[in-house]
Amino acid sequence: MILSEAGNWDPPSLLVLTGSRYPQRNQRELDFTLRDYGKKEGVELGSLMILGPVTMAAIHDAVRLRKPVMDRYIAVGGSAVRNPQIMKVRVGTRVGDIFAECGGFIKSPRRIAAGSPLLGQAIVDLDEPITKTSYGLFAVLEGQKAGNAPGTCIGCGECRNVCPIGLDPEEFYKASSVSRNHQEEPSYARAAECHGCRCCDVVCPSRLPLSTAISALVREY
Ligand code: SF4
Ligand code: SF4
Repeated sequence: MILSEAGNWDPPSLLVLTGSRYPQRNQRELDFTLRDYGKKEGVELGSLMILGPVTMAAIHDAVRLRKPVMDRYIAVGGSAVRNPQIMKVRVGTRVGDIFAECGGFIKSPRRIAAGSPLLGQAIVDLDEPITKTSYGLFAVLEGQKAGNAPGTCIGCGECRNVCPIGLDPEEFYKASSVSRNHQEEPSYARAAECHGCRCCDVVCPSRLPLSTAISALVREY
């Protein structure tokens, strides 16, 4: 389809309410949810291409309005931000200016990061610019205490309860930390299903680096 035709194309649409449980926005998680929906409702979904709302808005502007990507919709939030909000900002804008536009900080934040609250990359310089892939900024007053050494597994099972795809992070963590005994290995094929949402890391009371251990295990085998 050429661009001028694409501008007039009105594709068929179907609204599916998937719920908002984290990490529902994760592509793999959405893929599972939509396939499950298709199976239950007898809808043939075919191959899926998952695009976020910001990307959809950029495609709309490019195809319908012939406008290059110059702005991004950014969600700005976190307990340290005075007026959290969603803003449309020009690519290249300083992170510090965006927080200032949100009323600044209530108190000095403990952590500032770009991306999602769990998977975000730390920002060390408020002069860093917004790029064409930015979608979130957050600044928090409290957080997990950096530098706390991980403890030992107390077998509480919280990591299993929270994993959205039913993995047993404790089992994989132990497999990654004991000396390799190939007769006792769990199924590494299942470990490869981990999509790195880090829910298990967050709930673990012993602060074990579960998702990091799982990805190391997958790389190794
Ligand atoms: S990061 Fe943890 S909670 Fe998320 S999918 Fe992997 S094992 Fe499950
Ligand atoms: S959440 Fe942490 S302490 Fe609890 S079972 Fe899982 S690994 Fe062990």
